[in-house]
Amino acid sequence: MNLILLGPPGAGKGTQAQRLQQDRGLVQLSTGDMLRDAVSAGTEIGKQADAVMKAGKLVSDEIVVGIVAERITQPDCAKGFILDGFPRNVAQAEALDVILAPKGIALDAVVEMVVDDTQLVDRVTGRYTCAKCGTGYHDRNKKPKQDGVCDVCGSTQFKRRADDRAETFPARLAEYHAQTAPLLPYYRAKGVLKQVDGMAEIDEVARQIDKVLGLSRTA
Ligand code: ADP
Ligand code: ADP
Ligand code: ZN
Repeated sequence: MNLILLGPPGAGKGTQAQRLQQDRGLVQLSTGDMLRDAVSAGTEIGKQADAVMKAGKLVSDEIVVGIVAERITQPDCAKGFILDGFPRNVAQAEALDVILAPKGIALDAVVEMVVDDTQLVDRVTGRYTCAKCGTGYHDRNKKPKQDGVCDVCGSTQFKRRADDRAETFPARLAEYHAQTAPLLPYYRAKGVLKQVDGMAEIDEVARQIDKVLGLSRTA
């Protein structure tokens, strides 16, 4: 199964993509994570992306489409992938079609996580991740079971994103409404758009996603 998770910053895309990866064996493809890796590694792409990301703007289509085109054709993606943070505008969606069509790969569903914009600042400013395995947490909504210890790998090191600040958030949300929201009619016209209530609690969102995808419940 090949999916896109769509929603503004803080909607819960990464959280649900991590869960689908764990429960269903799909591969999470997060362009945000790939770009942050490039920034930490100090590659040429990372150098170009760093300031743009800090400003809450979109990195150029050329860079992002190039990264996705290379990653999505790796053998592990054949078991199914979840795109998280891509496409982010109609040009990227069209580029994705051009990548997938000749390979005979179809998108099974595009899941919109419907959220209330006013709640999102709290989601992103409270967000942090395990520095070792990348598992996502939140200061109040999703704490590790044991304070300061990652549930998944036991690491005690965590990190926060440079762009998850209240000052940068309005620019990111504006980019979403201007650039990314037009993907909703784009995918609705293709008959693949599904919607879930992204304001529900994390487990309930997971149940709704499974339901719209026609997946049977896991334990
Ligand atoms: P996105 O990838 O869409 O930007 P994340 O999945 O990283 O969003 O979620 C943003 C923050 O909100 C994280 O700290 C996460 O733990 C938390 N979160 C995710 N889903 C929910 C939810 N349904 N209710 C409350 N908090 C959530
Ligand atoms: P969030 O889920 O919180 O919106 P992401 O991790 O998806 O954050 O993206 C962080 C930043 O990385 C974006 O604000 C943007 O600068 C850049 N980025 C990620 N994916 C894309 C993309 N598909 N196109 C352009 N820029 C991107
Ligand atoms: Zn961890």
